[in-house]
Amino acid sequence: MTHKTIALLGNPNVGKSTVFNALTGMKQHTGNWTGKTVALAKGTCIHKNTEYTFVDLPGTYSLFAHSPEEEVARDYIRSKNADKIVIICDAVCLKRNLILVLQTISLNPNCVVCVNLMDEAAKKGIEIDCSRLSEILNIPVVPTAARKGNGLEHLLTALESNQKSTFAAASDIKDMHRQAEDIEKKVVKSKGRGMARDLKIDRILTGKHTGFPIMLCLLSFILWLTVVGANYPSACLSALFDKLYDVLFNLFGKLNVPVAVSGLLLDGVYKVTAWIVSVMLPPMAIFFPLFTILEDLGYLPRIAFNLDKSFQKACACGKQALTVCMGLGCNAVGVTGCRIIDSPRERLIAVLTNSFTPCNGRFPMLITVTALYFTGGSALFGLKGALILVGLIVFSVLMTLIVSRILSHTVLKGVPSSFTLELPPYRVPQVGKVIIRSVLDRTLFVLGRAVCVAAPAGLILWVLAHIHVGSENLLLILSDFLDPLGQLMGLDGAILLSFILGSPANEIVLPILLMIYTAGGTLANETSGTALLSVLQNNGWTATTAVSFLLLALIHHPCTTTLLTIYKETKSKKWTFLSVLIPALCGTILCMLWNLIARVFAYLTF
Ligand code: GDP
Repeated sequence: MTHKTIALLGNPNVGKSTVFNALTGMKQHTGNWTGKTVALAKGTCIHKNTEYTFVDLPGTYSLFAHSPEEEVARDYIRSKNADKIVIICDAVCLKRNLILVLQTISLNPNCVVCVNLMDEAAKKGIEIDCSRLSEILNIPVVPTAARKGNGLEHLLTALESNQKSTFAAASDIKDMHRQAEDIEKKVVKSKGRGMARDLKIDRILTGKHTGFPIMLCLLSFILWLTVVGANYPSACLSALFDKLYDVLFNLFGKLNVPVAVSGLLLDGVYKVTAWIVSVMLPPMAIFFPLFTILEDLGYLPRIAFNLDKSFQKACACGKQALTVCMGLGCNAVGVTGCRIIDSPRERLIAVLTNSFTPCNGRFPMLITVTALYFTGGSALFGLKGALILVGLIVFSVLMTLIVSRILSHTVLKGVPSSFTLELPPYRVPQVGKVIIRSVLDRTLFVLGRAVCVAAPAGLILWVLAHIHVGSENLLLILSDFLDPLGQLMGLDGAILLSFILGSPANEIVLPILLMIYTAGGTLANETSGTALLSVLQNNGWTATTAVSFLLLALIHHPCTTTLLTIYKETKSKKWTFLSVLIPALCGTILCMLWNLIARVFAYLTF
């Protein structure tokens, strides 16, 4: 059997992972996001007595610029490690893809062009003459619709060809653009009605006067659905867990399990886990699929587009808006995503401020506390809760802008670089895939992390609560130590302690707080929201405390995963340290300010 190595190259989001997975039978995560494939994935496939090893190169727009992805792709193509390069193009916007094709054949003429997303193009009324394109470039050109598996067989056959491109690609980028335009004119039959439709939609969704209002309405709607929709399933789950608690309690009694052990297992581990599942699972199960649909539709790049100008004004790179959107998923992903920013100065600004964006791990605690304190359970109050949450997100973006601006006028001085943001075409989301991805990748991941970290944390906390130094237990001693600072911030020592102990994952901050509050004593005998609210109120929480908590939840030090990622990306202790210091300081100051305002206001009104 002969062996051949085939490199897959293409702009981000053209279906490269889909082609790779279909050919190799692997399941690389596919998502609608720029810069997702960074490491080189490899997979094999046997076709007609040849074993092909496919190397999935990072998605890249160009081979001549300087981002790390582009360098990886360019070096690989130059190295001649591959017997052939398959350049995957998006049939819907062929011109932009042709530029990459021309750049590639000028480095290595041993290529095959795969025009993917032919089904999307057909829907939009775009016709592409692939044989004409093949004649012009003098290499095989294969039309595919990888999601349905169409054309992949032809692609494999095309790999047997020995054709090398003889097309004389221009050496200058400007001329290359002109060449790509010329070729496009010859092979793209009609520009299609769908493009006009996309343009019309974009004019509204990214319009000067309509972009922001629509964005805020959409976000409010999603959060409103989340807050209101979570009530009923939450109540059902908590009832279920309470019943199970009684059963377990009786069982432990019958088995004569020592009180200390049953306390540890039932009140320490079981209740906190049950609480996380019943209070945090329903909002996540609603929020994440909705969010994933927006992502799949192609709306997130539009959000970035809307924010672009604001970031330029903050003397930061407009692409930072994209990394902020990635950070909404996970800050560690947002930080890695900062690689799409070419200028080191702007990249650092984006890295240092990414943790201002609330991530998946923080949404559950923001939603829960808002729902407990600011919604009365009715749909109308649900709207109020949703608006508060939108306000928090808007506030986090404002903070990102302010801090970015301060950084670019102090430690990271410079002028913003310009770039063109690509708006990918809209795509109908695959509902099944959306559900699987949001449930498996997000909901269960966040929940799993919460349970995995919180259960042992519950154990440790329970133990800490039962180790006494003098008459006080260790937990109390620690939280007493932090209390003065906490009080200044309108919080208390227990809250600060839980943010510190919760550093491994934001998901566990609230559970830890609950454990501290109930340590020694136990959680109220139910796991419902009302029971939770009374735990908080018994510990002196007012609406003012809740606001302070929300502020701190929004803006505090990055979690350890993000921190490690920042260190990996910057390779500098100084910047990593600053990435902790900046948000920690901002959060502390904000809470203090809020507390001061609230106190002055209370003093004046009473
Ligand atoms: P990559 O960023 O280039 O790796 O792109 P992905 O493989 O992640 O694909 C991006 C999106 O396009 C996913 O939602 C895919 O399901 C979708 N996609 C990929 N190929 C096709 C295709 O041929 N037709 C259609 N309609 N969608 C596709």
